[in-house]
Amino acid sequence: MVFEKSLEQIAPDTSQAIDQERERQESTLGMIASENHVSKAVLEAQGSVLTNKYAEGYPGNRYYGGCQHVDTVEDQAIQRAKELFGAEHVNVQPHSGTQANMGVYFSVLNPGDKILSLSLSHGGHLSHGHNVNFSGQLYEVEQYEVDPDTGYIDYDDLADHANQFDPDIIVSGSSAYPREFEYNRIAETAKEVNAYHLADIAHVTGLVAADVHKSPVGHAEFITGSTHKTIRAGRGGIIMCQEEYADDIDSAIFPGSQGGPLMHNVAGKAAGFGEAQTDHFVEYAEQVVSNAKVLADVFNDLGLSLVSGGTDKHLMLVDLRESHPDLTGKEAESILSDVGIIVNKNTVPGETRSPMVTSGIRVGTPSLTTRGFEEKEMEVVGELIIDVLDNPDDEAVHNRVVESVNDLCDEFPIYAGTPLDDST
Ligand SMILES: *Cc1c(COP(=O)(O)O)cnc(C)c1O
Repeated sequence: MVFEKSLEQIAPDTSQAIDQERERQESTLGMIASENHVSKAVLEAQGSVLTNKYAEGYPGNRYYGGCQHVDTVEDQAIQRAKELFGAEHVNVQPHSGTQANMGVYFSVLNPGDKILSLSLSHGGHLSHGHNVNFSGQLYEVEQYEVDPDTGYIDYDDLADHANQFDPDIIVSGSSAYPREFEYNRIAETAKEVNAYHLADIAHVTGLVAADVHKSPVGHAEFITGSTHKTIRAGRGGIIMCQEEYADDIDSAIFPGSQGGPLMHNVAGKAAGFGEAQTDHFVEYAEQVVSNAKVLADVFNDLGLSLVSGGTDKHLMLVDLRESHPDLTGKEAESILSDVGIIVNKNTVPGETRSPMVTSGIRVGTPSLTTRGFEEKEMEVVGELIIDVLDNPDDEAVHNRVVESVNDLCDEFPIYAGTPLDDST
């Protein structure tokens, strides 16, 4: 019977690629700001028989029989999210953060309606109205930007822009803006122009849950998030809203834009939200932010230029144009990757290069903090990064950095000692 066979026996090539990916995660320093490592418990939930179950609809109100146990799981995820965020209504079915945003747009906008959001090259997200995304194709979009001198959002300017454009929805939230949003300011502006406020907290879901980042609850009709970034609940999305929009949101997700929910991922959310309710997680989230601040200090001290001068949260955006004018974001990503430090190239405000080349790199601390890195290790990592950027062609330097990266990875394993570690 095929069920007796392991993945290695059924699809050895796939099994091997998965093993190699796990080894890659163990043996490199993951500093992509949107990534993290989930616990064995979350992996177990996501790899469960819940992947077999159809559950179109919502708990207690499904289009399929046999849903009593998946109902329990979905209710747990919803209840924990309500407790974590203080939200009135929660939908845990969006397959991703982009689907969550789609759910909000579909619930209150008509095609041709107007979105005001942060520009992609100033830290925004494709799903906030970029022309290559459905959101830019269905709606009329204008974007606000950060102040070129300070790197901070200028809320007076945003308010003027809103008064001129008269948007139906204002989106706050970002992928690469290193500062907290003033949700109350955006809420005031939205009220003035009679627009909804969607706060997309994709990157900071975990920081908001742990109360180390301002919460938009009470300042936004709609809040969307990812469940795999700073909160370690497995890949997926979430929508929170005020009770009066609950039915609209639920029907915009199912049947509006999705079919059967990924119940194994909903189980991952239930598990990960449970972890996020522990003191241990609050300490984790605090450490993510202090690690980022230490890293930003090292970068500032050693001459790198950071957009807005630093960070309030888990990520920073390095603008290479002054310190390393000959180095593009793409090259920096590539040479760092060669020594086992994984970051991504990123456009910076006032970008002159293409999005495939860029003049910046985005650097985040959630994954390293999950491994156990604290301030001391972040100082070392910051110095390693600068060593490589300052000496892009020096093989001796690179070899020395590779050694340090290996030592750090050995000292802070991710899954070693758990059943996922089959080296033992
Ligand atoms: C990551 C992110 C999303 C969601 O991305 P998915 O890849 O679709 O889960 C949405 N908004 C912002 C601001 C993000 O950074």
